[in-house]
Amino acid sequence: MPRYEYRCRPCGETFELSRPMAESSDPASCPAGHEDTVKLLSTVAVGGSAPSAAPAPQSGGGGGGCCGGGCCG
Ligand SMILES: [Zn+2]
Repeated sequence: MPRYEYRCRPCGETFELSRPMAESSDPASCPAGHEDTVKLLSTVAVGGSAPSAAPAPQSGGGGGGCCGGGCCG
């Protein structure tokens, strides 16, 4: 089930909810019970939370590593 991120205006905090995609645009109550929330960009995070999304580029033979000498073949 995808997870969606919402922001609560009274709290000023963000929280996540796991809900079906069909209900992704439905109103969401924050953990404190407030209903004045806005839906943020859908962070479809499956398994684990990574707030700082910095995708590490795969260095495949560009840095002159092991693959440069042909030992990975
Ligand atoms: Zn709240």
